[in-house]
Amino acid sequence: MQIPKTHPRYESLMKREKVIEALDKGILAKAGLIAHGRGEMFDYLIGEKTTPIALEAIKAAAAMLILAKNPVISVNGNTVALAIDEVVELAKELNGKIEVNLFYRTKERELAIKKAFEEKFKDDIETGKIKILGIDDANKQIPNLDSLRGKVSEEGIFSADVVLVPLEDGDRAEALVNMGKKVIAIDLNPLSRTARKSTITIVDELTRTLPLLIKYVREFKNKDREELLKIVDGFDNKKNLKEMIEYIAERLKNLSLDEL
Ligand code: ATP
Ligand code: MG
Repeated sequence: MQIPKTHPRYESLMKREKVIEALDKGILAKAGLIAHGRGEMFDYLIGEKTTPIALEAIKAAAAMLILAKNPVISVNGNTVALAIDEVVELAKELNGKIEVNLFYRTKERELAIKKAFEEKFKDDIETGKIKILGIDDANKQIPNLDSLRGKVSEEGIFSADVVLVPLEDGDRAEALVNMGKKVIAIDLNPLSRTARKSTITIVDELTRTLPLLIKYVREFKNKDREELLKIVDGFDNKKNLKEMIEYIAERLKNLSLDEL
């Protein structure tokens, strides 16, 4: 479908096209469309831009990722559909580890996602700059999750100290935290269980967040450990989520209908 660049909802419509395309390629489960729609709704409430509140969370996340000994980026169908390039770019700034971690795990979808990475990033995979984990090597189990959803790679999420999980489900975020991991979530819904259970929750849209996260990871590599620890320790996730909810409430209260 052709969407004219001048369309007032161009960005949003392009994202819809991407998730539909991913559905057709077998990358996305049908339920992924619903998850996307829920995200769109919250983005509307936020005003479709990165708030200063979310930026604080992004900076804390960048610092936490640099301090991590074994960070892993967990990806699902929605993440691959919308932001495969940015995921690879971020992974290359870290240790290169990307793990495919699906809510509705089927062999077909695993392979479709693997193919999406191999088609675009063959060289990076062959030279070891990035590693796509969680497909052939998902031999470990997250405790207290049903077997399919809890399957993880030993080299990846199982042994990770920090896991970045865009669009995770609340159960798994909680199970990862219970394993002693630090979980960074990207989730437009500040009320979700994922948002509340994670160590750092970035309440912002995935494709707006990742370029900023990459920017701060690059920038913060010049900072010393003490300074990075201060950024992480100074971040309070509950407080940040509360501020986001207040931001949405205030925005709705003050919105005049003429602006809509
Ligand atoms: P819970 O976290 O409460 O267990 P859930 O994760 O099972 O709920 P879903 O609707 O399956 O609920 O999760 C999708 C989540 O991803 C929603 O909270 C939605 O706001 C968020 N989301 C969807 N698209 C994006 C996006 N592009 N960027 C950021 N977040 C998104
Ligand atoms: Mg969730």
